[in-house]
Amino acid sequence: MALNLLMLGPPGAGKGTQAERFARARDIPRISTGDILRDAVQAGTEIGRRATAIMDRGELVGDDVMIGIVRDRLEREDAKGGFVLDGFPRTVAQATALDTIMNGRDPLIVIDIVVPEDELVRRLGTRLICDDCGMNAPIAGGAATCAKCGGKLVQRADDNQAIVIERLKVYHRQSEPLVEYYRVRPTFYSIDGAQPPDRVAADLAAAIEAAGRTAMRLGAPR
Ligand code: ADP
Ligand code: ZN
Repeated sequence: MALNLLMLGPPGAGKGTQAERFARARDIPRISTGDILRDAVQAGTEIGRRATAIMDRGELVGDDVMIGIVRDRLEREDAKGGFVLDGFPRTVAQATALDTIMNGRDPLIVIDIVVPEDELVRRLGTRLICDDCGMNAPIAGGAATCAKCGGKLVQRADDNQAIVIERLKVYHRQSEPLVEYYRVRPTFYSIDGAQPPDRVAADLAAAIEAAGRTAMRLGAPR
C-alpha cells in the first residue's frame, strides 16, 4: 500500500524539515510546492516569472496553477508508491482538487503540525537557508556555510518581518480552514511541533504508523 502523506501546518512549523527527513527514510519523493516554485523562479520559466512577485509579498499563487503543478507531479512514476506533500494544499479549493486527483489511489494520511504563533514568528525571523541547495539552517547554529554542501547561508526573501506577518495572516485566512476540512477523516492526526526536531520526528512516525493501520483497514476508495 502506498504511503500518501500530506503535511499541514503554518509557515515555520517545520514541515519542510520533517517532510525531507521522513521522505528520505522511507525512500519516497518529497513534493514541496514552495521548492518547485523557487526552482521555477530560478529557472526563469513562465510560471516562475509570474510567481516571484506573489511569493515576495507572502501571498498565494493561484489555485489553477498550483493544482496543475501537483497533478502533473503526482502522475509521475516515482510518486506511484507514495509521496510526502509539503505546502499543498493551501486552500480548500486545492484540497477538493487533490481529492479528485487521488480518486482510486490509496487514502491520504494527513498530519497537522501545531506550533504557537509567537514561536513561529521567532523561527521565521531567524532562519537561514543555503543559497545553493536550499537546506534550512537555524541562526542559532552560528554557521556561515551550509553543513551539507558548503554553500552560502542567506535569509529567504520572504522571511523578513513584514512578510512573515503577512504569510501568517494568509495562513490563518486561507490555509487553516484545511484543518477542519481534514480533521473529520480517520487518517488525520495532529502533532506538537514546538518540541525539538527529533521528538517531532518520533511523534510524526508514530502518528503515521497509526494512520497507516487505519488506512489499511479502509483500503483504497474505488
Ligand atoms: P513556508 O515556509 O511558508 O511553508 P513554502 O516554501 O511552502 O513556504 O512556500 C513559499 C511560497 O510559495 C508561499 O508563501 C506561496 O507564495 C507559494 N506557494 C507554495 N505552495 C503554494 C500553494 N500550494 N498555493 C499557493 N501558493 C503556494
Ligand atoms: Zn547547501
